[in-house]
Amino acid sequence: MPQPNIDAIHAALARVNDPEIRKPITELGMVESVTASAEGVVAVRVLLTVAGCPMKEQLTRDVTAAVSAVEGVTSVDVALGVMTDAQRGELRTRLRGDAPANEIPFAQPGSRTRVYAVASGKGGVGKSSVTVNLAAALAARGLSVGVLDADIYGFSVPRMLGVTGRPTQVDQMIMPPIAHDVKVISIGMFTPGNTAVVWRGPMLHRALQQFLADVFWGDLDVLLMDLPPGTGDIAISVAQLVPSAELLVVTTPQIAAREVAERAGSIALQTHQQIVGVVENMSWLDLPDGSRLELFGSGGGQAVADSLAASTGTRVPLLGQIPIDQRVREGGDDGRPVVLDAPDSPAAVALRSVADALAARSKSLVGKSLGLTPVR
Ligand code: ADP
Repeated sequence: MPQPNIDAIHAALARVNDPEIRKPITELGMVESVTASAEGVVAVRVLLTVAGCPMKEQLTRDVTAAVSAVEGVTSVDVALGVMTDAQRGELRTRLRGDAPANEIPFAQPGSRTRVYAVASGKGGVGKSSVTVNLAAALAARGLSVGVLDADIYGFSVPRMLGVTGRPTQVDQMIMPPIAHDVKVISIGMFTPGNTAVVWRGPMLHRALQQFLADVFWGDLDVLLMDLPPGTGDIAISVAQLVPSAELLVVTTPQIAAREVAERAGSIALQTHQQIVGVVENMSWLDLPDGSRLELFGSGGGQAVADSLAASTGTRVPLLGQIPIDQRVREGGDDGRPVVLDAPDSPAAVALRSVADALAARSKSLVGKSLGLTPVR
């Protein structure tokens, strides 16, 4: 057996990604040293970004597997250390360049990330269910996706995506946990236990600002923001912090839901945001005899789309109608979105087609309001 070649080992390590940052550990300055004996025993010392990093077992496994595959290697010994403050500072510069600490990447000119703020008039219409399923479906298509759960009253995104991990902090960056290839940050991850958040406007604004600026989202294709129901402060904050965010309105067919959904959508008029479309959820229940039971009435989604189109003077499509399906609820409770768990179910098919419509849109200025207001 030839003695393992150190360059070949480095090349193998360059194919190991940090599970949280999703970039090669060699590029992140995480490989401190590599030695190989004549007998093929390799010792690798890897520096974790923070002590107690929740990903250390996976990292050890990935490094061992990659190095074991190199010719001449008989055994691999992975030792873990922790970066110094200076090393973390360097890592931060490597990841974020010299962007100022509180700069929101999505608000910068030239940002390629499409930001969708998912809004509803009232709670319980399935806004979070739609958000997590769209996120999972877009990630399954190979897009890089993040979800920011800003629903302070009913943060349910972590459960629905099965996120159990907590964010870790590296220097001044917050590393979001990842589930089903979706990066997730929720206001619920920053409150002890299951306590309600009683923050008011200015604090919410700052929390949102921090989530957008300090979380290391990487190069996202799509960021979905789950807003609290209604027309509250958060929607205005979103418009201020990420002016290019587009509104996705979720409603049920019901008249009451439709009226409040229109009101929620009409914020776009005041904030000059574009409305990407309307999703009608809980549209009907498929019965065993093949008929449809329209539990909440019909036509709500189309009515909201038409009304928002009329009030904004833009095209507002009804992007999809999602039937009621027990598997949507179960998937949410178990952290396995229905688009992944029962991909052939009618609800999953409908959700995926909404995701396809969102994925097909490229970021451009076409149809975007210039935000001009008449001079008084
Ligand atoms: P919101 O975010 O608008 O408050 P949720 O997404 O939390 O609403 O949904 C409310 C409840 O309805 C949850 O228990 C969820 O599992 C369930 N649900 C949502 N959409 C559907 C659907 N299409 N079929 C069955 N249950 C659904």
